[in-house]
Amino acid sequence: MKRENAVQILQQSSAIWDVLIIGGGATGLGTAVDAAARGYRTLLLEQNDFAKATSSRSTKLIHGGFRYLKQGNVPLVRESLRERGLLLRNAPHLVRCRSFVVPGYQWWETPYYGMGLKVYDLLAGKLGLGPSQIISREETLKQLPTLEPRGLRGGVRYFDGQFDDARLAVCLAQTVFDHGGVALNYCKVTGLLKEGGRVCGVMARDTESGREFEVRARAVINATGIFTDDIRRMDDHAVAPVMTASQGAHLVLPKSFLPGDSALMVPKTADGRILFAIPWHGRVLVGTTDTPVTEISLEPKPFAEEIEFLLAESAKYLAKAPARSDILSASAGLRPLVKTGGGPTAKLARDHALFVSPAGLVTITGGKWTTYRKMAEDTVEKAIAVGGLEPRPCVTEGLRVHGAAGEDLRAAAELMSENPVWCEWLHPRLPSPVGEVIWAVRHEMARTVEDVLSRRTRALLLDARASREIAPRVAALLAAELGRDEQWRDAQVKEFSALAGNYLPQ
Ligand SMILES: Cc1cc2nc3c(=O)[nH]c(=O)nc-3n(C[C@H](O)[C@H](O)[C@H](O)COP(=O)(O)OP(=O)(O)OC[C@H]3O[C@@H](n4cnc5c(N)ncnc54)[C@H](O)[C@@H]3O)c2cc1C
Repeated sequence: MKRENAVQILQQSSAIWDVLIIGGGATGLGTAVDAAARGYRTLLLEQNDFAKATSSRSTKLIHGGFRYLKQGNVPLVRESLRERGLLLRNAPHLVRCRSFVVPGYQWWETPYYGMGLKVYDLLAGKLGLGPSQIISREETLKQLPTLEPRGLRGGVRYFDGQFDDARLAVCLAQTVFDHGGVALNYCKVTGLLKEGGRVCGVMARDTESGREFEVRARAVINATGIFTDDIRRMDDHAVAPVMTASQGAHLVLPKSFLPGDSALMVPKTADGRILFAIPWHGRVLVGTTDTPVTEISLEPKPFAEEIEFLLAESAKYLAKAPARSDILSASAGLRPLVKTGGGPTAKLARDHALFVSPAGLVTITGGKWTTYRKMAEDTVEKAIAVGGLEPRPCVTEGLRVHGAAGEDLRAAAELMSENPVWCEWLHPRLPSPVGEVIWAVRHEMARTVEDVLSRRTRALLLDARASREIAPRVAALLAAELGRDEQWRDAQVKEFSALAGNYLPQ
């Protein structure tokens, strides 16, 4: 997957694309995979890096959503559990089964949550990951050795899916290329082309070169998450907004706060949400919050109250309370939610919404990472009808995601063997060798220090301080690979250092 080739195809080809997708998050990438795998000429344009917005900032769960079960949204839970099973099969290199434990401190908690999780098991049917179980106080402490033991009566253990969100996004982009499509990052859609009142393409700008393109397509799909209304307004400037956003924050703590292999799930925090503390890449990911926001940003920052809340809530359950100084990284993401009247954002459904404007712009929004494949299937079906494309069946239920056969691991190991320096660790506290930077540039379209340290490796989330320390070395490696000058390198280091500062609460 090479950006230069993708730009060249865009420059040289005047042919009409069958399907053009705006937005390279979970939804857009999934849609591009579906369309390309059906054999349609498919192009995806992403204004920044793949998964730069919401899709790299999730709790990293491929799950039915126990919360949606509590809300009574059985169809969403059933659909999500089915998708969880399919994704474990199709992307075994990125999705794994994780054990979760719900601790019980009140007499009613263990039977109550135990029953709820039995329903969860039942809804998963044949694609279940193993039966949930009520466990003793001793077993609960064995699973979660750092759990607060005072007043603990027992627990419920169940299984769910866990993944690496930004890595899955990159692999989906590679899957688009595997099936003959093109996915281009750093290419922003600036307007829609219309003919006879119908949307027939987009205007786009390569934000690296500044070059403008007019690209024609039979079906244009808006998959821009929290930016959905911006694209809808390009179609009809008076259209009423449909989106609202809610911020969710996460903290990453050292593994010592939850040393085992099981995750902690608290079904009801002080604000009525679910709290997770999950082992992830040798650290513990703690989240999340639900704060309605009006400012839409590609780089949201956790609010001080969100950090306080996560520290205070986790301190209730962990024998040693985490302090601000323990935080390795704090981040935030914005959920794209479809408005359904008033009420708190935590209660808004995570179902997806799909609609077509009078001019034929297809919009897909809402949903979850877990359901991206089904969302994509529905969207491509709609695009076939709107664009008058020859109908072809969806093939993604059994389609392996790029890298599933371990081909990239083998190729990366081969690359690493070319230069002994590439086998050195980038930082003693980070799990990435130097060669990963070279691989990310050559095969995964990484263009900036942030692309490498935030989304190709997850260094920024795992240890923001360490990631800042290695930024100069990564910038030098990138500059050599991409043929950039010293000025570019210095600007990259400055930009990344400022960004990493936002992940370190004062
Ligand atoms: C805190 C939090 C926790 C979550 N946890 C989970 C979880 O554990 N499991 C789960 O299943 N789901 C989870 N979700 C939900 C999931 O992350 C989202 O539903 C999903 O990532 C949304 O993907 P998307 O592609 O619709 O949006 P995005 O990822 O935001 O992608 C939209 C893309 O469109 C691009 N774009 C915008 N305008 C333009 C333009 N003009 N030209 C080109 N490109 C453009 C943006 O740059 C962006 O990359 C969570 C969400 C949050 C916020």
